[in-house]
Amino acid sequence: MSETMSNTTQPIVRMQQLNKHFGSLHVLNDIDLTIVPGEVVVIIGASGSGKSTLIRCINGLEEFQSGSLVVDSNELLPHGKSTKALQTIRTEVGMVFQQFNLFPHLSVIDNVTLAPMKVRGLSRDDAVSNAKRLLDRVGIADQADKYPSQLSGGQQQRVALARALAMEPRLMLFDEPTSALDPEMIGEVLDAMRELAKEGMTMVIVTHEMGFAREVADRVIFIHKGEITEQGHPEKLFDSPQHERTQSFLARVL
Ligand code: ADP
Ligand code: MG
Repeated sequence: MSETMSNTTQPIVRMQQLNKHFGSLHVLNDIDLTIVPGEVVVIIGASGSGKSTLIRCINGLEEFQSGSLVVDSNELLPHGKSTKALQTIRTEVGMVFQQFNLFPHLSVIDNVTLAPMKVRGLSRDDAVSNAKRLLDRVGIADQADKYPSQLSGGQQQRVALARALAMEPRLMLFDEPTSALDPEMIGEVLDAMRELAKEGMTMVIVTHEMGFAREVADRVIFIHKGEITEQGHPEKLFDSPQHERTQSFLARVL
């Protein structure tokens, strides 16, 4: 965790009593979650427990019905009533999905330069030199002129990471970034994420990679049926979970 943690830095995410329903399904139940700059938070829990919905609320991809949510000083209101904040948040929060979601008709370099040019107004030269630096950082500088379909899954996911970083996000969200990858490609994506964590990026990561979580997380949150059941430092949560539900989940996945 970065040294900013200990002083009076504003949290980058402050979620209070957040509730989310899909029709009659109560998917998130009174969630309180505060994340400070530089913190790496890993979210674990069974399939269908609400992990994706929770992180999708943070960048406004999902509306919520009640509670409060402030992301980097932008307040998101219930029922999506915060158009201005939503636009700002979308440019400040990067997201990497399980399915890489690259633009298939654009080359790698064009995938990475598109948003900085369109949304941030960068010149093509600046966007390209930035993109090259980022592609180099995730170890795929030599793939810049290829198309997504010509790359392995691990390479595509690293392009997706570079593309998100090109917007200079204040916060990065990851939703099972390695779940769609062949086993031999998981390591290269986790390595890139590990580097990012070391550099002090604030990250919220949904993953089933428990070894990775133990190594990089400042805090692990276990969510069960839309509620935060237990959270803590990875060593504590993994080695001595307090709640019976956490224990039985970990017994199944570890
Ligand atoms: P997780 O990511 O932990 O697997 P999700 O957040 O995707 O869980 O889903 C939580 C619950 O919400 C599940 O019961 C899921 O079926 C439901 N759900 C997710 N998205 C939608 C949607 N767009 N419409 C209706 N129900 C949904
Ligand atoms: Mg999910």
